[in-house]
Amino acid sequence: SPDFYNIDALLTEEQKLVRSSVRDFVKNEVSPIIEDCCQKNIFPKYLLPKFGELGAFGPSIPVEYGGGGMDEISYGLIMQEIERGDSGMRSTVSVQSSLVMFPIYAFGSEEQKRKYLPKLASGEYLGCFGLTEPDHGSNPSGMLTHFEDKGEYYLLNGSKMWISNAPEADIAVVWAKNEQGRVQGLIVERGMEGFSTPETHNKWSLRASVTGELVFNNVKVPKANLLPGRDGLGAPLKCLDSARYGIAWGGVGAAMDCYEVARKYALQRKQFDKPIASFQLIQKKLAEMLTEITKAQLLCWRLGTLKNEGKATSTQISLAKRNNVDMALNIAREARQVLGAMGITGEYSIMRHMMNLESVITYEGTHEIHLLILGNEITGIPAFK
Ligand code: FAD
Repeated sequence: SPDFYNIDALLTEEQKLVRSSVRDFVKNEVSPIIEDCCQKNIFPKYLLPKFGELGAFGPSIPVEYGGGGMDEISYGLIMQEIERGDSGMRSTVSVQSSLVMFPIYAFGSEEQKRKYLPKLASGEYLGCFGLTEPDHGSNPSGMLTHFEDKGEYYLLNGSKMWISNAPEADIAVVWAKNEQGRVQGLIVERGMEGFSTPETHNKWSLRASVTGELVFNNVKVPKANLLPGRDGLGAPLKCLDSARYGIAWGGVGAAMDCYEVARKYALQRKQFDKPIASFQLIQKKLAEMLTEITKAQLLCWRLGTLKNEGKATSTQISLAKRNNVDMALNIAREARQVLGAMGITGEYSIMRHMMNLESVITYEGTHEIHLLILGNEITGIPAFK
């Protein structure tokens, strides 16, 4: 909820079942601990096997590799419900599913799939995805991380920054240039000599999700760890499509939580001897929140349907990610005001959502870059290159 346009009627029984099981999980396991984790900057790692048991890791990966074998709308609903709890938890799960399991499934060898996917699905392993570098964020094609073929192994050098899950990850899917300058993916394992994952401290956002660097200092990566299926920047971009699709749904989850909290508060809080919900200016905020959430829900459902048919384009995904995260951030800001001073405290989830969404609007392609992707689609002229 809210479901003002009865989008539930468009969902299958299975999709509704998946949603309610994740919603219950978030209510019982995430919501009670998340505020404290964020205040204290703690990553609740013990939840990983529980997320695994729930089926949150790799929902759309085939069952034979430990995944859920579900459709894309189910995947979206899982992301929505987790982000209703916290964007940081959704980030952990998105990275594992869309940015680690997906590339291994889509571009990995049979041996790699059998070795890593079941352990990632169960939450025994945590993975991370290294694309961004200190000097190359919006422009990953300029990346400097590279590897050389040394006959028996690849020698990897360089560094990645702002990597979700990095300090706790067992494996990293790392994007680096080969000797011909083509981008390829490598699976780097914790414990390989010359590989370290220093944590990034003092974030005011996604404080329950751990972020760090990946540093490669002459790391000898076994040849069997190269993802053989695809080379070029299109490979990591394909992973980002999958993650951005999940984020579009996640934004709706965060927005729905902010809306519900603000609505309940407005009905209870009295000023001038009346519930503040009786004032037109508060009603305007709530009415506009509901309108924006409803539009975003329809966008997600249609995009999910296209994705199930294999027809969702990257640009359609950009539009949804950009719109829905911006929508959620605006709703968080408005909802925070409905709560007055109470809105700034950890008694309510709104301020935490608001701070989290400041990262979500930047990562997986910034708000500006997604606009320029759309501009390119409309005009045929790329304004960002
Ligand atoms: P920059 O690229 O330096 O951009 C700075 C500003 O300039 C932005 O507003 C941007 O929109 C604007 N800008 C840049 N180029 C243009 C242009 N041509 N036209 C107009 N405006 C432009 N990366 C990973 O690889 N893996 C992860 O797991 C991961 N997790 C993250 C977790 C967190 C909490 C955060 C904050 C980031 C994470 N990132 C991750 C990195 C994220 O994807 C980058 O921050 C993002 O791509 C933007 O890069 P940048 O921060 O270097 O900003």
